Amino acid sequence: MTLSPELKMQFLYALRSKGVTDTRVLSAMEKTDRGLFVKGLFSERAYEDMPLPIACGQTISQPSVVGLMTQALKVRPRDKVLEVGTGSGYQAAILSHLARRVYTVERHKRLVREAAGLFQHLDLVNITPILGDGSHGLPDQAPFDRIIVTAAAEDPPGTLLQQLKPGGIMVVPVGQSDTVQSLIRVTRTENGYDYDDLRSVRFVPLVEGLGKDS
Ligand code: SAM
Repeated sequence: MTLSPELKMQFLYALRSKGVTDTRVLSAMEKTDRGLFVKGLFSERAYEDMPLPIACGQTISQPSVVGLMTQALKVRPRDKVLEVGTGSGYQAAILSHLARRVYTVERHKRLVREAAGLFQHLDLVNITPILGDGSHGLPDQAPFDRIIVTAAAEDPPGTLLQQLKPGGIMVVPVGQSDTVQSLIRVTRTENGYDYDDLRSVRFVPLVEGLGKDS
């Protein structure tokens, strides 16, 4: 399914009406065709504001939630960003228009392979896709200006908090996987961490170790 000008307008209108108002974020989302990240039957619904199934029993998140999380992350053009949970690659593609460099980690090999293919096809050369357990972060590339976790953790993972620069921001859904979770923004300060509770969300869980296919 291709993105007609009418569909694009509806898509952006739905984002704005749900509170995505940051013009840099809207412009990055306008440049990123969600239809490319959803395969098969569900591609028909790629421009609706709903999560959709992707391979390996995972989901591509609802566009308005992607927009609100990206907005909450306050990404700046020189930032080095870590995403945990590549999934379809949609969130990483949006971040690639906002940041200097994006590292994105996924525990399922098939999802990494497919997302890497899309990044190459779209010429998004500032994204590095990595197969791994993202709950340990990426010690070799740390510290990061921004970290976004797109799977629900029981608590903000301590290892990831330690990989934030001072002044850095992490956005993470927190709570049990089968209930409504809270989207939390953590800011690293000189003396510790500040926490903001942003809204209720529902994400698949952050799971330890690699997927069975990996
Ligand atoms: N950001 C994705 C997108 O734009 O399509 C959606 C992410 S989906 C809601 C959550 C993803 O997190 C799944 O693909 C899942 O396999 C991955 N995941 C869960 N636990 C993980 C872990 N410990 N390390 C890396 N990825 C993980």
